[in-house]
Amino acid sequence: MTKTRFFGNWCGVDWGYWPLAVWGSLGLWAVLAGWLWWRVGDVPSAVAGGFLGMSLHWLGEALHQAGHAWVAKRVGYPQSRWIFLHLFIAAQYPKDEPALPTAVHRRRALGGLPASLLVSALAAVWLFLLTPTSLLWLAIAQFVFWENLLLFSLGALLPLYTITGMGFETDGDTLWRLRGK
Ligand SMILES: [Zn+2]
Repeated sequence: MTKTRFFGNWCGVDWGYWPLAVWGSLGLWAVLAGWLWWRVGDVPSAVAGGFLGMSLHWLGEALHQAGHAWVAKRVGYPQSRWIFLHLFIAAQYPKDEPALPTAVHRRRALGGLPASLLVSALAAVWLFLLTPTSLLWLAIAQFVFWENLLLFSLGALLPLYTITGMGFETDGDTLWRLRGK
């Protein structure tokens, strides 16, 4: 299930995916549709809204990684691969990179945070200034706001791998490794 399939090269990076990404997306769609059904009480809206929410999840994750990519390019050590895993994207750097200064690693690790905070802020504008016109839009705006704030911004800063030894390295793990250097 974890075999990476590559399907192209755009923007200077190789794009790949795990077949698990398809199942992850379907699973998230189902969970979101169930939650929206509970919130809205209407099956067609819940199914369509769940699909939109799943797409917005990938958009939020892609924008987070685009933040990393932008900083990486600016510091002169760009990414080489984007791989869609289960529900997240692994953005990788070339394996043959020279030893880089700590400051470069730190700046790259912090690149995703402003992007996700911005998405969360835009969702907050949607929620509080534009005031969603239906229960469905309200729920989707809340999902985008909280996911980008709690998962892609604050969550990314938690050194989860260092704490639990499970999963993959987050931005927080990278920053933790670089502390005091
Ligand atoms: Zn990140």
